[in-house]
Amino acid sequence: MIISMRLKATREEVDGVCRRIEDFGYKVHSIEGEERVVIGVVGVGDVTPCLESLEAMPGVEKALRISAPYKFVSREFRPAKTEIRVRNVTFGGDEFVVMAGPCSVEGERQILDSAEAVARGGAKFLRGGAFKPRTSPYDFQGLELEGLKLLDKARCATGLGIITEVMSERDVGLVAEYADILQVGARNMQNFALLKTLGRCGRPVLLKRGMSSTVKELLMSAEYIVAHGNPEVMLCERGIRTFETVTRNTCDLAAVAALNELTHLPVIVDPSHATGKRSLVPALSRAVVAIGADGLLVEVHPAPEKALSDGAQSLDPKQFAAMMSDLAPYMHLWKSARVSAGNCEATTAS
Ligand code: PEP
Ligand code: MN
Repeated sequence: MIISMRLKATREEVDGVCRRIEDFGYKVHSIEGEERVVIGVVGVGDVTPCLESLEAMPGVEKALRISAPYKFVSREFRPAKTEIRVRNVTFGGDEFVVMAGPCSVEGERQILDSAEAVARGGAKFLRGGAFKPRTSPYDFQGLELEGLKLLDKARCATGLGIITEVMSERDVGLVAEYADILQVGARNMQNFALLKTLGRCGRPVLLKRGMSSTVKELLMSAEYIVAHGNPEVMLCERGIRTFETVTRNTCDLAAVAALNELTHLPVIVDPSHATGKRSLVPALSRAVVAIGADGLLVEVHPAPEKALSDGAQSLDPKQFAAMMSDLAPYMHLWKSARVSAGNCEATTAS
């Protein structure tokens, strides 16, 4: 349920509503807004008597049942887009954010060169896995702590923020010490022990869609993180498995538009894992800007032919720079559309 209080409802009225909710045996999950207070409630079973009682209370404007099983991440709960501020960048606002870098952190020279190249091209965050989930257990698994330290070095050298993957709840504390954003990989989208721990990690989370997961399952996983205390979640479409083999995965761009209707969370697209081919990344990225995503996560390597992972889908620095200048006019249009939509009621919702 959500309870929307009247504009300027008094503190006593808000407290009275919270007490009544608890009398019904429900839990007040969050209280938001200063001028207009909105109270989020988790209720199981038939909430009708509680809704009717609350609606009759002083200071209450509306008491609503939320029909989606994911409540806190739904547009019904919060019509305006969530803005997530990380360092000096805002996701979900009127800035299209590019995060770029190699698939894996491989060594000091490699990550520093990558960081300089992506910063020069206009990226705001450096990506790079220190803990790598690989399809084969015999493949390179990442430099772990040493990789995190190298990312920190690259951040100090360039001023870029750091996004890196965390694979296990055991490593959340350590990764949160080094990263500005914690990435949950496709293979871990439904690792609920990890998601719960991320609820308390104190850092924004980028949650990638599982390769065989539905949009609803993605939203339910995001709900896990939010319900466990962390509202700063971004979603990432990175392609799903279909019968198609020309591309590594099938990029579900319609899911991006659907997510923009269904949730207030920022939506990012990863065109590198979606296609598996560097030649397709720039064209797909144009489409990502046009469809109204909030940003891109792209693989860039100083020498893709030598990469220890995902070289075939990584752009080299020149290709990245060319893609960014090709995207500039599209980003310009994106910005005007975002600003005129008044950031950011679901533009497609009626
Ligand atoms: C990655 O970002 O390098 C990665 C492993 O991605 P995904 O989890 O989407 O496969
Ligand atoms: Mn990769």
